[in-house]
Amino acid sequence: MNVCQSCGACCAAYRVSFDESELQSEGGSVPDALADPETGRTWRLRGTDYARPRCIALQGEIGKSVSCGIYRERPNPCREFAPLAEIGVFSEACNRARARHGLPPLIAAIE
Ligand code: SF4
Ligand code: SF4
Repeated sequence: MNVCQSCGACCAAYRVSFDESELQSEGGSVPDALADPETGRTWRLRGTDYARPRCIALQGEIGKSVSCGIYRERPNPCREFAPLAEIGVFSEACNRARARHGLPPLIAAIE
């Protein structure tokens, strides 16, 4: 199991904004029902701007076992955030998100 599947902290820490063109209604993949308008052509995943952020698509318990309910349809910011973590390289952004949830920092396997 990759580490992200037992973490999920970033999906409940940061605002996830993306361009309107990523919405299904605009020819993209992100279900419109899970998005809220931000400004102009920018939309965000519902829940990611709440006082206690948590993406509406996140399933499971953070720090234990999680999955993305729209993994194949998720927007670009999600795709860009995790790839390094998936190969064992953890960013400061990962560790900040984890700290918000009381999870210990992950140590980079390679620099
Ligand atoms: S990208 Fe980082 S913060 Fe997000 S789930 Fe993976 S390890 Fe956790
Ligand atoms: S769409 Fe999936 S990967 Fe992106 S923030 Fe939500 S739960 Fe996380």
